[in-house]
Amino acid sequence: MKIYISGKYFEKEDAKVSVFDHGFLYGDGIFEGMRSYGGKVFRLRDHFDRLWESARSLMLTIPVTVDVLEKAVDETLKINGISDGYLRLIVTRGSGTLGLDAHLCRDPQIIIIADHLALYPKEYYEKGLEIVTASTIRTNPAMLGPQIKSMNYLNNILAKIEGYQAGCVEVLMLNSKGEVAECSGDNIFIFKRNKLHTPPPDAGILEGITRRVVLELAAELGMKIKETPMTRHDIYTAEECFLTGSAAELIPVVKLDGRIIGNGQPGVVTKKLLERFQAETKK
Ligand code: PMP
Repeated sequence: MKIYISGKYFEKEDAKVSVFDHGFLYGDGIFEGMRSYGGKVFRLRDHFDRLWESARSLMLTIPVTVDVLEKAVDETLKINGISDGYLRLIVTRGSGTLGLDAHLCRDPQIIIIADHLALYPKEYYEKGLEIVTASTIRTNPAMLGPQIKSMNYLNNILAKIEGYQAGCVEVLMLNSKGEVAECSGDNIFIFKRNKLHTPPPDAGILEGITRRVVLELAAELGMKIKETPMTRHDIYTAEECFLTGSAAELIPVVKLDGRIIGNGQPGVVTKKLLERFQAETKK
C-alpha cells in the first residue's frame, strides 16, 4: 500500500507525520471518507466542497488547489491498483508547538489513503440493522458545527462505544433538544405515510454526500420529501428506516431501542433507493 503525504508516496510502515502536528496533538484537522467505483471517486467535487468549507470554518488553509488535489487522489487510487475502494483524505493543521496557537503551525499535511473496502456484512443489508439510542448527545452546533468534518470524532466514538456495549454496530444520536440528529457515522431517513423524512441540517448533523444523493434520487422518483425535525417516536412508528453513508451506501434499520420498525424487514422503498443509488455509482 502506497500512502500519499504532501506530494510524496510512502509505504504503509513509513507513512508518518510529526507528533507535533496539531492534527495529532489536538484533532486539529479535517477529513473526507470517499468511495471509488470503477476507478473513479464518487461525487469527488462534493467531497472537495465539504472539505474546503470545513477548512474555511476552521481557518485552515489547504495548501494546494482543487486541481492538484484531484490529481493526487486519482494517482493514489491508480498507484494502489484500487478500482472499487475507500479513500481517506486528511488535511492537518501541521506542526506547531505544544501550545494551542494555530498560527504557529506552518506545514499543513495532506494525506491520502486508498484502501480496499471494509463493508458491513451482506447479511446486515438483507436482514437490516438493530440499533439503539446513545446517551451521548451529538455536538451542539453552538459549540462546534457538526457540518465540519474534523479530525476530532470523540463525540461519535463515545456514542459508538455505547452501541457496541449494547451489541449494535451503529447507534442513534440525538441533539441537545432531544430530537433525532444522525448516527455515529451515517445519516438517517424514515419512510412514513408516503413521505421520506430526514432531519434537516439545523438538527445538528454532518450533511452527508450520500444523504444529498438519496434526496436527489428520491425527488427524481417523484417521492414526497420532508426535511423535518424528528423524535424517536417518529422512528419507532415509521414504516421503514435506513441509514446513509459513503461506506454503507444505504443500509436498512429494522429495530430501534427494542421497537420493531414497520414489519421488521428491510422495506421496498429502501430497496428501491439502494438500487437507484447503486445504478448512480455505475454512471
Ligand atoms: N454523519 C457522520 C457523523 C459521518 O461521519 C458520516 C460519514 N461517515 C456521515 C454522516 C455520512 O456522510 P457521507 O454520506 O458524506 O459519507
